[in-house]
Amino acid sequence: MKKVALITGAGRGIGYGIATHLAQDGCDIVVCDIHEEAVVAEALRGLEDLGAEVLYCRADVSSSEARAAMLVQIKARFGWLNILVNNAGVAPKMRADILEATEESFDRLIGINLKGPYFLTQAVAGWMVEQKEADAAFRGCIINISSISATVASPSRGDYCISKAGISMATQLYAARMGEYDIPVYEIRPGIIKTDMTAAVTEKYDALIFDGDILAQSRWGVPEDIGKAAAMLARGDLAYSTGQVIMVDGGFTVQRL
Ligand code: NAD
Repeated sequence: MKKVALITGAGRGIGYGIATHLAQDGCDIVVCDIHEEAVVAEALRGLEDLGAEVLYCRADVSSSEARAAMLVQIKARFGWLNILVNNAGVAPKMRADILEATEESFDRLIGINLKGPYFLTQAVAGWMVEQKEADAAFRGCIINISSISATVASPSRGDYCISKAGISMATQLYAARMGEYDIPVYEIRPGIIKTDMTAAVTEKYDALIFDGDILAQSRWGVPEDIGKAAAMLARGDLAYSTGQVIMVDGGFTVQRL
């Protein structure tokens, strides 16, 4: 039986990179994104070309109704779900000093980056327990995509940092809770990755990477780097390491002298 993987925000960027690697590994794929299907049609075709059966769910992860409807769709189409990757996330619309940043931006980021994945995990984890109890051979796995911002303070986007620190604790909580079912929960913590999210700050990061020497590996990360790490976890290659943080940051956090 093929594994089914739900990846949020998989219409482009890191999420799409993860989806392609899981499809290459033989998973069927549920792509969740906020756009009309036509906008992500090329991405869906790309996954089908890799041999995956693909279901598209247009859902905003910050909406409890949309999350519930998505799980109904997945149950109807596949009947089971093995892998959840909480990847959908947003940066603040405008970077703003924490002495001035707005509650509106804070609420938006917490809703999409933390509350949405936290409660999506709650619903999926409950379903995974049911699947495990019905079939002891069931294999499940949950992966949260956080950021180096979970521990690295950027006072110009405190809301983003707090949302990522929160998802980091969510990983620990669900790892602790799901251990008795042998369902591992991991966090992948990316560094600076070339996607639409970082397009607006390309010059700043080019300068930091190539002139400022902030990375041990002097290059941008690419979605494929995260995709490979997620595929390793989803395959079960780190099966006895629940709760671990996998750094995919080009050595940003390596202390150097
Ligand atoms: P991106 O903006 O290129 O892609 C994000 C995708 O998520 C888009 O397809 C978008 O439509 C979708 N999305 C946004 N809000 C959504 C919502 N409410 N519901 C469902 N889907 C939604 O961004 P990316 O760089 O690929 O980032 C993916 C994840 O990786 C995010 O959680 C981000 O915080 C994290 N991350 C990115 C970087 C980086 O440097 N790019 C670094 C660390 C962590």
